[in-house]
Amino acid sequence: MIKLHDKMFRPYLRENQILEAIDKMASQIADDYKDEIPVFVGVLNGAFMFVSDFLKAYQHPCEVSFVKLSSYQGLTSTGIVETLLDVPENIQGRSIIILEDVIDTGRTLKQLVHLFSQTNAKEFKVASLFYKSDAYNGEYAIDYVGLEIPDTFIVGYGLDYNELGRNLREVYQLNQSNMINLVLFGKPGAGKGTQAGFLKEKYNLKHISTGDVFRYNIKNGTELGKLAQSYMDKGDLVPDEVTINMLKDEVEKNPEAAGFIFDGFPRTAAQAEALDNFLASKDMEVNATIALEADDDILVNRLLERGKESGRPDDQDEGKIRNRFDEYNQKTAPLKEYYQKQGKFHSVNGIGEIEEITGRLGKVIDALG
Ligand code: AMP
Repeated sequence: MIKLHDKMFRPYLRENQILEAIDKMASQIADDYKDEIPVFVGVLNGAFMFVSDFLKAYQHPCEVSFVKLSSYQGLTSTGIVETLLDVPENIQGRSIIILEDVIDTGRTLKQLVHLFSQTNAKEFKVASLFYKSDAYNGEYAIDYVGLEIPDTFIVGYGLDYNELGRNLREVYQLNQSNMINLVLFGKPGAGKGTQAGFLKEKYNLKHISTGDVFRYNIKNGTELGKLAQSYMDKGDLVPDEVTINMLKDEVEKNPEAAGFIFDGFPRTAAQAEALDNFLASKDMEVNATIALEADDDILVNRLLERGKESGRPDDQDEGKIRNRFDEYNQKTAPLKEYYQKQGKFHSVNGIGEIEEITGRLGKVIDALG
């Protein structure tokens, strides 16, 4: 394990695995281009090591140049792509082969395709040493791939975490095993949101409340908000597909989190399975599901009180509240068994003083080890 800034990384790809993949790419590309003089264009900064080893493996006439775009900040792509060093000159009628270190969402690639489509090059191909096919949502089909890798954060061999790690000869993967990911379970009004507020401070976790994200979107009139509103107003659940995609987005936005509190998610068996699969694809897992238990009658009164202050339409009408309980009993309650089977279900008495309940939750979390 190595430490870069605040994060731990573990060895993932050895130097010879990387060099073998590069040799293979070089011979594939040679098969296609040895009869002309292609221009290899490395994408700075990350590709410098790849370009160097690639050219040593490509023993035919060729030229080399570089472009520089900037999009990464921290562990996540910011979405803004700037051109810092432009396309090479004199590429009229030439075959251009881009050498990228890694392709994930495809945002940088889109910008590259755009940049080169404005030139008079003969053709344009893309060779990427690493390719995160799960994360890629671009339209351009990548022409040459060294190694397909899962959607986890990597450093080394030219790739950095906030500028550190580029000089490592091997590739390392972010170590997620000391993360704490919690599901807060319980009926509407059980106090999930209130308790999540305390727990996120105490354990330095990112709190994701699907209800809050929906309300934020409704307030801002987004497409997602418009879609969710009719369901929420009646106290029905928003369809799984919409909710699952939204949840994934929220997790993706926070790759630096030390862990998550999922509040109000999952609420159906399909959501629970989607969460497990999604986390597994990122080398993460749910560590514990903690249910806050309270009687319906107490909860109805709590929600009606809350509705007077917040103005939430689904909290102001006993019929809608009862409908949310029905949804819970039918679709969400069965998840207790799902998590019990995994040995992850914990029950906590949700009646009492707020601090007292936080204390009960803390005991469960501290015992996770
Ligand atoms: P909450 O703030 O958690 O009580 O959620 C308010 C409403 O948002 C729910 O009644 C649903 O309409 C919607 N919602 C929140 N989370 C989910 C979810 N995981 N699945 C489907 N709908 C949800």
